[in-house]
Amino acid sequence: MKNKYDVLIIGGGPAGALAGKTAAEKGLSALIVEKRPAIGAPVRCAEGIGREALLEFIDADPRWISAEMHGAGIIAPDGFFMKLESDMAGSKVGYVLDRKFFDRELVWKAAEAGADVAVKSRAAAPIMENGVLKGAKIEYCGTVTDVRADVVIAADGVESKFSKWCGIDTTVPVREIMSSVQYVMADIDIDQHSTIFYLGNDVAPEGYLWIFPKGHRTANVGIGISGKKSGEGHRAKDYLDKFVKKTFPNGKTIEYIPGGVSVCRPLDCTVADNLLITGDAARVVDPLTGGGIYNAMYTGKLAAEVAADCISKSDTSKKALMIYDKTWRASKMGKAIERNYNIKEYLIKQPDEKLNEIIHSVSKMNLKEFSTLSLIKEIIKVNPKLMLELGALAASIR
Ligand SMILES: Cc1cc2nc3c(=O)[nH]c(=O)nc-3n(C[C@H](O)[C@H](O)[C@H](O)COP(=O)(O)OP(=O)(O)OC[C@H]3O[C@@H](n4cnc5c(N)ncnc54)[C@H](O)[C@@H]3O)c2cc1C
Repeated sequence: MKNKYDVLIIGGGPAGALAGKTAAEKGLSALIVEKRPAIGAPVRCAEGIGREALLEFIDADPRWISAEMHGAGIIAPDGFFMKLESDMAGSKVGYVLDRKFFDRELVWKAAEAGADVAVKSRAAAPIMENGVLKGAKIEYCGTVTDVRADVVIAADGVESKFSKWCGIDTTVPVREIMSSVQYVMADIDIDQHSTIFYLGNDVAPEGYLWIFPKGHRTANVGIGISGKKSGEGHRAKDYLDKFVKKTFPNGKTIEYIPGGVSVCRPLDCTVADNLLITGDAARVVDPLTGGGIYNAMYTGKLAAEVAADCISKSDTSKKALMIYDKTWRASKMGKAIERNYNIKEYLIKQPDEKLNEIIHSVSKMNLKEFSTLSLIKEIIKVNPKLMLELGALAASIR
């Protein structure tokens, strides 16, 4: 670890890895610091990603793909099963990764491109001079080193503190934190090529329960519920245990993974002087699905591209870096986040009867491709009653 880099990246998840790789490829000196002793572990993720989304960044490799998905299913609160075959499951078709190895591969690619990597190295505080960010104090096994950088990229995930230390309001309202628990389960009866989502206020209030296969008779079985619905005796784990007892009574839990996902709108602004905020730290998770791997990689890469451009022009002020914020908001990802936030806000207010009505209605549609956009468009076309209720959503997806 040197004392000065062009770019200092805090966090070795997908956002940090893509930032490090891109910065190095652009000829910048870059350091990724990761507070955990090992990249990729422990995993806090259901590990699902769409095929096209993945291929935008990296070729699929069996070393870190647990299973390939050919379809998806949605189970309504009344038990009705809506099957989405591969030709219409669209972005839901893809892979269940093995993130222990996937995250390592991404960081390895950053290192291969020339980035330095330091594990068990925590950004403990920003270095501020006259109110302007100049780097970070990095703590490694009890010693603290000042690392200066022209640009710091905060990629420190959902529990991000770095941006807050720099004076940015990163608060997420409790109701917009999905409280999640996931078990890796073995010896269970599943369709190993299909993801399944369960909806309903008895199963997962203001959230959903998922089964993401990891191979033969093995899956990530998890749940996310609204933080405001969680309480003594009815926490995410209680709902998951109830489901598992009923559905997989003989299954074996071989891993327990607690976690939180922010399903709020992104931060109001994701830049400051010499600072770019990416991935979960920027709150760019899809608020409807809780998926954030793609969004992390996308923003990580974009942040490094913008950093490289601004460093080459010797201007890393907030004004110069703003192009990062504007670009991701105008991107397909940025628009999807805004649209899906509105859809999520609509759906969480619906009683089970309405969710049943929507899912039954959708199952009769001739969807060429299943995506939230096509779904809402079709609902509006087919069901005049729902159209009125979905009026605001309709406006938001045009
Ligand atoms: C239960 C659950 C299920 C999920 N399922 C899916 C899914 O199926 N598909 C999907 O796309 N997304 C899913 N997600 C979301 C996905 O995991 C995240 O969106 C993604 O990991 C974000 O990547 P990131 O690089 O921004 O952050 P992270 O992957 O969280 O990486 C941030 C890194 O920063 C490190 N760090 C934090 N603070 C510091 C510090 N001060 N100094 C140094 N290092 C630091 C952390 O240790 C961590 O390694 C799920 C999340 C949860 C909780």
